[in-house]
Amino acid sequence: MQGSFLVIEVMSWAAIRGQEAAREQVLRYWRSGRWGHAYALTGPAGIGKRLFARELAKGLMCERRAAELAACDRCPSCLQVLAETHPDVHVVRTPEGKHSLPVEQMREFCAALWRKPLRGGWVVGIVEDAEEMNAESANAFLKTLEEPPAGVVILLVASSWERLLPTIRSRCQQVSLRPLGREDVAAILTEHGVEDEAVREAALRWCRGSASRALAIARGGLWELREELLSRLFQGQVEVEGWVKRCLEYAEGAGKESAAQRERAELVLDVLLEGLREGLRWGVIGGSGSSPEEQRQQTLGLRFGVEQILDWQERTLQAYEHLDRRVPLPLVFESLFEHYAQACSGLKVQTTPAG
Ligand SMILES: [Zn+2]
Repeated sequence: MQGSFLVIEVMSWAAIRGQEAAREQVLRYWRSGRWGHAYALTGPAGIGKRLFARELAKGLMCERRAAELAACDRCPSCLQVLAETHPDVHVVRTPEGKHSLPVEQMREFCAALWRKPLRGGWVVGIVEDAEEMNAESANAFLKTLEEPPAGVVILLVASSWERLLPTIRSRCQQVSLRPLGREDVAAILTEHGVEDEAVREAALRWCRGSASRALAIARGGLWELREELLSRLFQGQVEVEGWVKRCLEYAEGAGKESAAQRERAELVLDVLLEGLREGLRWGVIGGSGSSPEEQRQQTLGLRFGVEQILDWQERTLQAYEHLDRRVPLPLVFESLFEHYAQACSGLKVQTTPAG
């Protein structure tokens, strides 16, 4: 291991955990002379795709680059990329409150890529939310994506490769980023000062390898909401209006960005689904749970029976699809809880375990 190169390299890329394979892939293109002009960084939310794009931009732009594509984090170029003020790094993203990337913004972005670099090096264009291009903005983008000026690198950030339009996919190389491992998420929680063991455990359990989900769980009061909803559901007390209001409060606690709100809405569905799954298990196998949590789930199984719980599960899974299709959150929750409530109002209490 030789000296300062390694130190610099580790400092710069260390901020991005768990994506060594993706980084290796990019380095292979760089070393092999097959360096392309467009890369799609794909993978679920909260695993570091935007950080990765920034790091790559920094690595290309750095004035004191020591190792391959590894930035020094100190030169004027690096500092400008970090502050999002570098004149040759252009970013386009879906504006807050919009569900697609408007064509006007795409045109501006492309025009910027065609200008001469102000600092004389590479020009990097980053398209965040690349799957949210509509047909019009994709059309406006295609020519630049297909044949950008020399020295331009375009990085597309997308939640999955399949969600990109085929015309976009055929013009870039995929770099797939992975969900984070438990250790990486645990380290990120520590970095963000999350110390309470129960909260950490909950975050690790529900995060599906996503750092942003883990932090949303640790900070947003998901655990309390889970208790509230499940304990009432298990008693057959679903009050639609109040539930919708409570869940919206929780989702909106993530801030104005709709993606962050949807992420929290998804977490609500996660905890409901898990509660139902457990209830179903007790409903099917019977027996008696030993912990208060198990006894509660068993009550759900007994009270509603297997078919009803399966139906709720089905509806909850549909709600994920609604979220995916950008149905407004109040409607997603309302239609789901209406369905829960219907079954509660016609409650037929079973006195023996099913099966
Ligand atoms: Zn630098």
